[in-house]
Amino acid sequence: MVFREYFSRFYNAFLDAVFPPRCIFCDSVKSLQNGICSECLKKAKEIEEPVCLKCGMNKKSCVCKTKSRFYDGLCAPFEYEGVVRRGVHIFKFNGQRDNYRYFSHLMAQNIKKRFDSVDFDLVLSVPATEKSISARGYDQSALLAGGVAKELGLVYDNNVIKKIYETESQHFLSTVLRKGNLTGAFDIVDKTKVAGRTVLLCDDVSTTGETLDECSKMLYLAGADKIYCSVIALTQIKEQK
Ligand SMILES: [Zn+2]
Ligand SMILES: [Zn+2]
Repeated sequence: MVFREYFSRFYNAFLDAVFPPRCIFCDSVKSLQNGICSECLKKAKEIEEPVCLKCGMNKKSCVCKTKSRFYDGLCAPFEYEGVVRRGVHIFKFNGQRDNYRYFSHLMAQNIKKRFDSVDFDLVLSVPATEKSISARGYDQSALLAGGVAKELGLVYDNNVIKKIYETESQHFLSTVLRKGNLTGAFDIVDKTKVAGRTVLLCDDVSTTGETLDECSKMLYLAGADKIYCSVIALTQIKEQK
């Protein structure tokens, strides 16, 4: 046992020397706290209180009066901008697969804070097609959902929602086209798993909320009782003056 501990300490020190830990937001080798360097910790923009529990935005930016949603609540620790936006890109597009550990920890903490009284039955993730998963080498939303479920002591089921066909990247489409682009893209494989259940749906980011809403619509039609969503970051629609 003593030898094992000694070996594991030695092995971790070796790994740190060969692959020094990098900040999940700026990708620099620095001294880190929970994967984040002190500069990014200051720069990362948290969603300011008071927060609307339905759209997840600061109450001044709440869009719930004008936008009806199939989900009951959405929460995110951060705004999708600056160092957070950069960190999500590094995680999604630069192959930093293992950064999910830190991101899912931040999401789990945020879920505990926002939806403390909710009893979740299972955790799901916004699905990607096989083609896009194999192109990236991993499914970032599945990794996040798995990490969140583990930390919250819940079950993550990767076999409930499927993406049926590849859609245009939402990034380049207008809001109206984004909604149409997703219609019919998702299917519930096994309705019995969600009927009458309270589900927690995880994704990396939410910019317009349309992807989460389309998945939530399918879950709602399959009979889910309550649907809550969690992401790393969301885009806050700036206050109109
Ligand atoms: Zn940093
Ligand atoms: Zn709201």
